[in-house]
Amino acid sequence: MKTVTIAGGGLAGLSLGIALRKHGVPVDLHEAGSYPRHRVCGEFISGVSDETLRELGIDGELKDAEKLQTHAWYRGENRLYSGRLPVAARGISRYRLDERLHRLLTDTGGRVFTRSRITGGEKEGRVWCSGRLPQPGDWIGLKCHFDALPMESDLEMHVGSNGYVGLARIARDTVNVCGLFRLSREISGLEILDRYVELGGLGTLRNRLREAVAREDSRSAIAGFRLGWQAEHPGRLSLGDARAMIPPFSGNGMSMALESAAIAAPILASFARGELRWDDAISRASRTLKSRFSSRMKFARILHPFLTSAPGRAFFSTASRLLPYGAIFHLLR
Ligand SMILES: Cc1cc2nc3c(=O)[nH]c(=O)nc-3n(C[C@H](O)[C@H](O)[C@H](O)COP(=O)(O)OP(=O)(O)OC[C@H]3O[C@@H](n4cnc5c(N)ncnc54)[C@H](O)[C@@H]3O)c2cc1C
Repeated sequence: MKTVTIAGGGLAGLSLGIALRKHGVPVDLHEAGSYPRHRVCGEFISGVSDETLRELGIDGELKDAEKLQTHAWYRGENRLYSGRLPVAARGISRYRLDERLHRLLTDTGGRVFTRSRITGGEKEGRVWCSGRLPQPGDWIGLKCHFDALPMESDLEMHVGSNGYVGLARIARDTVNVCGLFRLSREISGLEILDRYVELGGLGTLRNRLREAVAREDSRSAIAGFRLGWQAEHPGRLSLGDARAMIPPFSGNGMSMALESAAIAAPILASFARGELRWDDAISRASRTLKSRFSSRMKFARILHPFLTSAPGRAFFSTASRLLPYGAIFHLLR
C-alpha cells in the first residue's frame, strides 16, 4: 500500500484520513497549527447525509451535536421570516469536533504531525486539504462563543449593511456567533465583532451580545480569502475549501469538506493499492467533485449579493415572506 499524505487537518483532511484508514491505507497528515483550536466557522452543519458520515466513519463523533430545526431571518431590527428547516442541521463547536476527529485519526493508526506546514509542489499521493487560498479579499470572518444568550430560534441570521451574522446553538447553553463582513480597515482590537455588528446597523443584536457572556478564548478572525472556486493547479488534488469556498450563508461549507473527503477516499484507496495511476485518480476525483458541487456553487453565487448589496437586501426585505425557503435550502445542497 502506498501512503497518502494530507496537507491540512481541518474537516476535509481529518475526515479523509479517517476514511482512508478504514480502507487500510497508510496516512500521514500534516497540520500547520495544533489541536484543539477555535476556527472561524458558523458551526452549523447542514447537507451532509447520515450515510456519508457513516461511510467516512465519523458518525459517532457527531452524535451529541445539537439538533437545529428552527430558523429566523432578520434585516436590521426587523424579523423577516421564521420557520423550520426542511431537514434538521447539527450544531457543534469546531474546537470540540476537530479535536475528536484528530483523536480518532491517531487512534485508527493515522500519523498526525502538528505544527507542520507542507511546502513545495505536487507529489504522487499528496492531497491538499489546506483550506482557503490566502489572497487579497474584501471579507473578514469573525466568531465568538457566548453563554447566556437567549435565542428565538435554533439558528438566527441577521443581515446588516456590511454583511451578515449567524447565531447557532452549539451546546445547551452556548451559542456560536459568526459573521462575514466587508472588511473595514479602520476597525481592529478585541471588540472587533461588536464594532462590525454595530457598523452593520444591528444595534439590537449588539445589545444582546453585550448582555451575554462572551467566551473570550473562542474569539477568532480570518481575512484574506475569496469565495467561490479556488485556483486550480495542474496535477493537484484539492478538497474542501482548498477547492471551493461556498458563501457561508449557505451553511454548506463543512458539508462540502466532508462530502469531498467521502468522494476522494475510495479513489485514493484504489491509488494506494496500485489499481489506479495518480493522474487518473486526480482526474476521476476532480470530475466527480465538479459535478457534485457546481450547481450549489452557482446558486450560492447568485444569491450572495441579495444579502451583501444594498439593492439585493432591499429586494430580500420586500420579498422575504414570499421566498420558497424549502426549495432554496435544497438548491444549496
Ligand atoms: C465566516 C464563515 C462562516 C462559516 N460558517 C459555516 C457554517 O455555518 N456552516 C458550514 O458548513 N460552513 C461554514 N463555513 C465554511 C467552513 O468553515 C469551511 O468550509 C470548512 O471549515 C472547510 O474545511 P477545510 O477542512 O476545507 O478547511 P479548514 O477547516 O480551513 O482547514 C484547513 C487546515 O489546513 C491547515 N493548513 C493550511 N495550509 C497548510 C499546509 N501547507 N500544510 C499543512 N497544513 C496546512 C490549516 O492550518 C487548517 O487547519 C464558514 C466560513 C466562514 C469564513
